[in-house]
Amino acid sequence: RTFASLGIIPELCQSCATLAFKAPTPIQVEAIPSALQGRDVIGLAQTGSGKTAAFSLPILQKLWENPQPFFALILAPTRELAYQISQQVTSLGSPLGVRTAVIVGGMDMMSQSIALSKRPHVIVATPGRLMDHLENTKGFSLKNVKFLVMDEADRLLDMDFGPIIDKILKVIPKERNTYLFSATMTTKVAKLQRASLNKPVRVEV
Ligand code: AMP
Repeated sequence: RTFASLGIIPELCQSCATLAFKAPTPIQVEAIPSALQGRDVIGLAQTGSGKTAAFSLPILQKLWENPQPFFALILAPTRELAYQISQQVTSLGSPLGVRTAVIVGGMDMMSQSIALSKRPHVIVATPGRLMDHLENTKGFSLKNVKFLVMDEADRLLDMDFGPIIDKILKVIPKERNTYLFSATMTTKVAKLQRASLNKPVRVEV
């Protein structure tokens, strides 16, 4: 298996090679072709499985076809995870010149507002701080989002981000693709899945 055989464009195959990704991992083999076909995806996968690239590569490929600000929103439970995701998106997306903003708690609101005013393609955020910006940063909205990712959804819900995620779902377009990744399938994750995904393909490793 190669990234090209999954439908990944040469520019992004090159990024994978640069990162020394020799072959796609099982979750990437399962998720990428469906995602490229425009399906929603629910992925049951642990950290270390290559899940970040599994959802980032299809988003970057669609962004390449039609570059737009505020194209994708990636929600993560912790700052550390948000930074890790952002690093990987930035590395994989370097041939596209992808602009990424990290919006997490504990950091200066003003510098984040400035980052948002530069119209990034991808926002990686923890839910609480994102909501803060939706309420307080003039001119910032999610009305152009085409892709929503909820990473480590079980942890997002264990940390009681459920009500904030419900609010975010109300202000992003229904016409979008959604990828939900979780280490475990819990009752709460199943409920979030029903509220946010449309006929998803389920991939599990
Ligand atoms: P993740 O599960 O997304 O946290 O990824 C775990 C680690 O695997 C990260 O450091 C990635 O850079 C790396 N990785 C992702 N996909 C591949 C791949 N196809 N081959 C080798 N390493 C990979």
